Amino acid sequence: MKAPAEKSFEEKKKIHDKGIEEGAAQLTQEKVHQVVQQMLSAEGGARLKAYIETCSHCGLCSEACHYYLSNDNNPIYSPAGKVKQTIGEIVKKKGKVSVDFIKEACEISFTECNLCRRCVMYCPFGIDVAYMMLFMRRICHKLGVVPQYIQDTAHSHSATLNQMWVKEDEWIDTLQWQEEEAQDEFPDLRIPIEKEGADIFYSVIGPEPKFRAQLIYQMAVIMYASGADWTMPATPGWDNSDMCMYTGDVEMVARLKKVHFETAMRLKNKRIVMGECGHAFRSVHDVGNRFLGWKMAPLPVVHAIEFYYELLRDRKIRIKNKLSQPVTFHDPCNIVRGRGLHEMGRYVINETCKTFIEMHPNREHNFCCAAGGGVINCGPPFRNKRVTGNRVKADQLAEAKKKGAEIVIAPCHNCHGGLEDIIKHYELGMELKFLGDILYEVMEK
Ligand code: SF4
Ligand code: SF4
Ligand code: SF4
Repeated sequence: MKAPAEKSFEEKKKIHDKGIEEGAAQLTQEKVHQVVQQMLSAEGGARLKAYIETCSHCGLCSEACHYYLSNDNNPIYSPAGKVKQTIGEIVKKKGKVSVDFIKEACEISFTECNLCRRCVMYCPFGIDVAYMMLFMRRICHKLGVVPQYIQDTAHSHSATLNQMWVKEDEWIDTLQWQEEEAQDEFPDLRIPIEKEGADIFYSVIGPEPKFRAQLIYQMAVIMYASGADWTMPATPGWDNSDMCMYTGDVEMVARLKKVHFETAMRLKNKRIVMGECGHAFRSVHDVGNRFLGWKMAPLPVVHAIEFYYELLRDRKIRIKNKLSQPVTFHDPCNIVRGRGLHEMGRYVINETCKTFIEMHPNREHNFCCAAGGGVINCGPPFRNKRVTGNRVKADQLAEAKKKGAEIVIAPCHNCHGGLEDIIKHYELGMELKFLGDILYEVMEK
């Protein structure tokens, strides 16, 4: 594998981020101590203490982390090493850390960990390093020290109820535009807006209407061909994404998820089907309800993989000609390690593609794309670090390519962003697709 244009560790650590710098400039030593100590006593309960005290520094988690492996086994990128440099030091010093320390810890927790939880599986004690990195991010959020790009996205979501600042009329216009486009192919196709009592409330992430409206078109055709009873809302509450979950703003997570759930319930829909996004699914299916104090989501929540699986299993969609180009599959952490949808993903691929080539490792052992956990959302200042920090993913893809794979399927928006950069940087020359792209292409319409 071609070696990436490397920067030295010192150079990498000199990344300038406006959000981190300006946030830190507002802080005093006293403010840091006060906020950190308050956070440790109010929220750093038994779980944090148990993890910190249980870690035996055995290093078994190191080789699970793509940052460690891709940075030539540099221990500062190991999961335990990242804990030591951030929340571990905070606990050890009982919160008495400097402003410069917070800046450094912010950069590590936001841009050197994807919260992918691969390392958790390899720790003999099941220590959840991702939880500790998130706790560190929450402290940074409380201190107002957060990378600018991701904070802007979180602000946009909290101000407009979607992360892309899409106005209400633009949202409706986009749905109508996609409906008109699709009607050229299928004159009686509709994108039903505000349909009370429909079986399916379909929700997407903010970037879909903004940059990838064709995905809404494709889903409309899949819904139409399968005879699904579905709808999308006209009001805010359609965006299921969640950067606040990654900035540590859990209060905002609860508010945004409540709007999402309440929109589906206002329409008396029977279940939420979500587009192909990993983090959004984690947020709606697994996290938002808990920050709201609810044991479960108020209605069933289904990822697109499960939906496609049902349609193919029940023969509601029939395949005309399977895709002839060989494909490989990237298992997104949030829906595979987090939800176990790997076999359903493979079912959909085998039903729609002639040749499927596994990349290794796979399923719950797959390596993250290095974009997730909000890392890609920290923006261009950290792009190089993210891409060079995932050389192992490039190796994985290159291996699959050597066996013949031409297309990488990734049913997650963030994975697409991350893999696109990796394919380009390491000159892999592979095509990237969503499962919906393939299904749309090969189904009987
Ligand atoms: S990136 Fe993944 S494997 Fe690495 S420390 Fe974070 S959660 Fe663990
Ligand atoms: S594997 Fe577990 S116990 Fe060992 S260093 Fe990693 S987190 Fe600590
Ligand atoms: S973007 Fe994809 S691979 Fe990366 S953490 Fe999220 S789900 Fe995992």
